[in-house]
Amino acid sequence: NLSSNQDYIALEDRVAAHNYSPLPVVVEQAEGIWVTDVEGNRYLDALSGYSALNFGHRHPALVQAAKDQLDRSTLTSRAFHNDQLGPFCVALGELVGKDMILPMNTGAEAVETALKIARKWGYQVKGVADGQAHIIVMDGNFHGRTTTIISFSDDPEAHDEYGPYTPGFTSVPYGDLAAIEAAITEHTVAVLVEPIQGEQGVKIPPEGFLPGLRQLCTDRQVLMIADEIQAGLGRVGTTLACQYEGVEADLYTLGKALGGGIVPVSAVAADAEVMNVITPGTHGSTFGGNPLAAAVGKAVCDLLATGEHQRHAADLEGQFREALQALVGNGVEEARVRGLWAGIDIDPELMTGKDACKQLAKKGVLAKDTHGSTLRLAPPLTITAEELKMVTDALAEVVTEA
Ligand code: PLP
Repeated sequence: NLSSNQDYIALEDRVAAHNYSPLPVVVEQAEGIWVTDVEGNRYLDALSGYSALNFGHRHPALVQAAKDQLDRSTLTSRAFHNDQLGPFCVALGELVGKDMILPMNTGAEAVETALKIARKWGYQVKGVADGQAHIIVMDGNFHGRTTTIISFSDDPEAHDEYGPYTPGFTSVPYGDLAAIEAAITEHTVAVLVEPIQGEQGVKIPPEGFLPGLRQLCTDRQVLMIADEIQAGLGRVGTTLACQYEGVEADLYTLGKALGGGIVPVSAVAADAEVMNVITPGTHGSTFGGNPLAAAVGKAVCDLLATGEHQRHAADLEGQFREALQALVGNGVEEARVRGLWAGIDIDPELMTGKDACKQLAKKGVLAKDTHGSTLRLAPPLTITAEELKMVTDALAEVVTEA
């Protein structure tokens, strides 16, 4: 007999693998920026599924697109064509300024796909000796949970005891152009970078890093792969986080919000000269590009094509930064803000990030800690100025009451 939050938590604890440690809130219903738990408590969702819910829960246009498609077709596999994939790829390509799209499902799959494309491009176009392709990644990276991706993670929790590890990667300090330049060899095919490191606590690289990296990659015939899975699709006030710095990468990985919080949709976007190294049979996914995913993905692109959500995030950035900066020295050590995304380092002597999240939840705001005492706020881009103030006021109370 399940009724309370505790009932569901105890059940999950028995039968669901313990690969997460969630806050003790069991969501039953969600709409817009609000979620309601099984006991009827209402919370403002200031995490947005790690940016997968950039348009809030059950955005009417996205739900409608899904419902319409459910009544037509949901899965074809890529053994056949479907009438949704082409229009989705056009919309996404136009949105991010690339010729071609390779659709997958999860973020990790998009990153794996980009790494495979880069290696193949290295052998076929750059002329790297077979088996030698080398890719540079950043310390503190988070790109997903597959065996290859965790091979180059320096987070012991993500990495340890999952070896043997995939070779061919060198990790250098995030934001350090000289270190990247020094790591480039004749075998280097790509640099994989998050324009902002989300899991690391919304870590923003030094100004000039992304433009400098763009130039370096061009000069050395190395592909720049920007992982925009968490940072992209409106979060920082531009469609892509790279655009905030006026930078165009060679490949983008996209995910999370691309599925509108409804279905898993990810993609790699690149120009034809890069994407065409992929030929029939050399890569694929049963679900990638399915008509339901493509219909929802296209509806997401349509929402972003107006620029309204990006503008709104940019408009609220100042208010968000001001409110969080006011806490620095009052229980907060540092606050990093870009668009509607913030990493907040709480004074570790005051409380852990997890404790802060528990206190915030008691005040009706859901957020997530990352490492140690760092907290991440990423409310839906549909949040109003007043609602955003509720979030920052709640955090102010948590740190001043501690
Ligand atoms: N890349 C980045 C930058 C991410 O933040 C994430 C997820 O947090 C991923 C990749 C992996 O996405 P997924 O969990 O959908 O595999």
